[in-house]
Amino acid sequence: MNYRSTRSDFSCNSLQAVLQGISPDGGLFVSPEILSQEFDWKSVIGLSTLDMAQKILSHLLPEFKDMGELVKKAYTGKFETEDLTPVVKVGDNYILELFRGPTSAFKDVALSMLPQLITAAKAQSGATDETVILTATSGDTGKAAMEGFHDVPGTRIIVFYPHGGVSPIQRAQMATQEGKNVRVCAVRGNFDDCQTAVKQAFAKINAMGMLEKANKTLSSANSINIGRLAPQVVYYFKAYSDLVSQKRIALGDKIDFVVPSGNFGDILAGYFAKLMGLPVRHLVCASNENKVLADFLTTGVYDKRRPFYRTSSPSMDILVSSNLERLLFLAADCNAEKVAKWMKDLNTEGIFTVDEAVMQNIKETFKAYHCTEQQTIETIGETYNKDNYLCDPHTAVGIKAAKDYKAECADDVPVVVLSTASPYKFPAPVSEAIGLPVTGDEYEQIAAISKKTGVAVPKNLSSIQSKPVLHNDVIDREAILDYVLEVLGV
Ligand SMILES: *Cc1c(COP(=O)(O)O)cnc(C)c1O
Repeated sequence: MNYRSTRSDFSCNSLQAVLQGISPDGGLFVSPEILSQEFDWKSVIGLSTLDMAQKILSHLLPEFKDMGELVKKAYTGKFETEDLTPVVKVGDNYILELFRGPTSAFKDVALSMLPQLITAAKAQSGATDETVILTATSGDTGKAAMEGFHDVPGTRIIVFYPHGGVSPIQRAQMATQEGKNVRVCAVRGNFDDCQTAVKQAFAKINAMGMLEKANKTLSSANSINIGRLAPQVVYYFKAYSDLVSQKRIALGDKIDFVVPSGNFGDILAGYFAKLMGLPVRHLVCASNENKVLADFLTTGVYDKRRPFYRTSSPSMDILVSSNLERLLFLAADCNAEKVAKWMKDLNTEGIFTVDEAVMQNIKETFKAYHCTEQQTIETIGETYNKDNYLCDPHTAVGIKAAKDYKAECADDVPVVVLSTASPYKFPAPVSEAIGLPVTGDEYEQIAAISKKTGVAVPKNLSSIQSKPVLHNDVIDREAILDYVLEVLGV
């Protein structure tokens, strides 16, 4: 499959796209062929999740050999359930539980697979250099990426997260990460500052060829990497397949998905599924108080010049949503010139406006709602009290959007809400929501929630408290470049 940059006519195959992470012109890799190439989507319905993954990933990343082996290595024995991402009925919604992996966040689905893809791409292309993963995280990517990459030969990973911008459990998960090839560092500023500074350091190191002599190459584990996005397409098919086998729908009926969104990667994977033929009616984007995406999807104006809020769903506290660029490219008939202009406007003015035709295209599929902090807490409480289901704040933003969406369309099309994290990663807001006093440290809060609800605490979270803290670096964002060079010894 031919992967093209969203900002120029630079193109490469899927192996190179995965290894490079980002195009030399700053654009993201997308395959226009996803719009035209037939995929026999019906043939994957009813398959096991791993077989489904093999077929879907082979379609999206066709240059990879032995995809079946890679999938097996990535997932076998790592998730709480064999089907990786179970669907449960909660009230009149279906919840797609994506958090049953090794770090209790949905990012595990993609980041268990990415190291396999990178290692295989290197082997196939005869590369002998060390791959250095540079990643900015709003909380979950960092841990999931380190869990995927730690001690993988030929790789090294450096993670940056916003100082004070992640939950205490997320921080503890990262600070206790073991592995000879991992480093974690807090950066003063919010996630956008952190992500922008990491992208800049990345571009500068590449432009100046700083790592060539040391035989090292940079790559990214953020959802700008197509190898991170492709594995996320699978669970949309899996959820659809489950509804077919439960006889809730007949093969070919349309369903809706609601996706709590930040960097727009998760929901974009749903769009890929739709373009591959899966009968998806709407993709509903759920934003928290940082509702730049919800505003864009309703108005066509993307304006990041606004206050940044720290919310109880920190992994969605994002004002510059990287993956929107891919949607714009596809919706604008793969016109890279247009996309480059919008991205330049965003960079220099903090705002861009897309044309009517592009917006029309987007609105056929995408709906958007947002949720305040108070509504998030209320939704966790209501979902627990009425439907006996304990959800995390990100998922609650999705459940609230599903409610608003349903009130508007009032029909019988099934709605699947993507659940992106375990409630135990965010014990303070969850305690508040279900009427527990928010006292003691986060581990005491976890114990109290578990005692009240009877919901089991995932093993990876119950064991962090006893692990030694191995990382406590804090730097200014201007120091990221030097930090990377020092860690790499160049
Ligand atoms: C990353 C994350 C999101 C947002 O996903 P995007 O792909 O960035 O839109 C939502 N919820 C949780 C828990 C996350 O970790």
